[in-house]
Amino acid sequence: MALAIGIDIGGTKIAGAVVDELGAIVRSERVPTPAGDAAALEDAVVEMIRALSVDAEISAVGVAAAGFIDAAQSTVYYAPNIDWRNEPFREKLEARVGASVVVENDANAAGWAEFRFGAGRMVSDMVMLTIGTGVGGAIVAGDRLFRGGFGAGAELGHVRIVPNGIACGCGQHGCLEQYGSGRALLRMANEIADAGGIGQALARAREAHGALDGAIVGGLIGAEDPGAVAALRQLGQWLGQASASLSAVLDPQRFVFGGGVAVAGELLLAPIREAFLEHLPARGYHPEPDFVIAELVNDAGVVGAADLARLWVEEHA
Ligand SMILES: [Zn+2]
Repeated sequence: MALAIGIDIGGTKIAGAVVDELGAIVRSERVPTPAGDAAALEDAVVEMIRALSVDAEISAVGVAAAGFIDAAQSTVYYAPNIDWRNEPFREKLEARVGASVVVENDANAAGWAEFRFGAGRMVSDMVMLTIGTGVGGAIVAGDRLFRGGFGAGAELGHVRIVPNGIACGCGQHGCLEQYGSGRALLRMANEIADAGGIGQALARAREAHGALDGAIVGGLIGAEDPGAVAALRQLGQWLGQASASLSAVLDPQRFVFGGGVAVAGELLLAPIREAFLEHLPARGYHPEPDFVIAELVNDAGVVGAADLARLWVEEHA
C-alpha cells in the first residue's frame, strides 16, 4: 500500500505521521514548534521527515500550515505563526528531503481528511468549520477541495457577519471568527459572568482561577451549567446564521464542525441547526443539509496533508 507523510505545523507543536491509503496512521512523531525562527522550523520539519522515512517507502510528503498557500501548493504567501512571506517552502523541502512535497493550508488539510475518511465521507459537497482559537474553513465541492483562483479561498472565518462589528486580527471588522471561535466563546462567557443570574458559576470559577479559559468553560458546559451552556448557545447561533449564508452559496449536503469547541457535541449542534433554519433563504424549498461533529479530531491535519500529497503525485505522475 502506498504510504505518504503528513506534517502539521501548529503554533505550539509540529505533528507528523506516516499515513496509508485508507487514512490510517502507521507511525507518528511530535516536537515543539521552534518559536519565531523560520530556519529552525525548516530544520525541524526536515528532521521529522527523515525520521519518519526510515524503513518506509514514501510516495510523497504533505505539509499543512496556517496561512495563505498559492494555488500550485508550493509557495506560502503569508503564515500568521511563522516569519514567512512568499516562502518557496515546497522547493526548499524537496531539495533537502528528495521527495515530492505539497504544501496545504491546515484547515483545508483537516477538511479533506474528514471528507475522505471521517464525517464527510458519504457526501460530494461538504463545508467544515474548525472552531479553535479562531475559525478555520474548508470547502469540498463536487468531490474536489476548493482552493480558489489564487489558492487563498475558503477563509470562512473571515466572512463578515456583523457590519462594523468587532475588530478582527485580519484588519477587518465583524468577521465570523469574532463571533464563532473559542476566543468568542470566552468573551460571551465573561459577559454572562458579569451579568450575574445564570452566570454565577462562571463568575465563581473566574474568581477562583483569575480568568476563564477554554478548559474551565468546557468543564462547566460538560456539567450543563446554565451560564456556560448559554454562552455556547450564543456561539452556536452565530455559526448557524453563517451556515445559512454559506448554504446559499455552496449548498453542501453536510456541515462538519471540528476543533476544541466541537467536543461539546449536540449542545453545540442544536443551536446551530435552529439558527440555520431560522436564517436559511427560501426555507421550505431548499433541501436541508445535516450538521455533524468531526471524527478525526487531532489527526485530521496530518492525515489530510498526507492524502493530498499522495493524490497530487498520482495525478502528476
Ligand atoms: Zn477577519
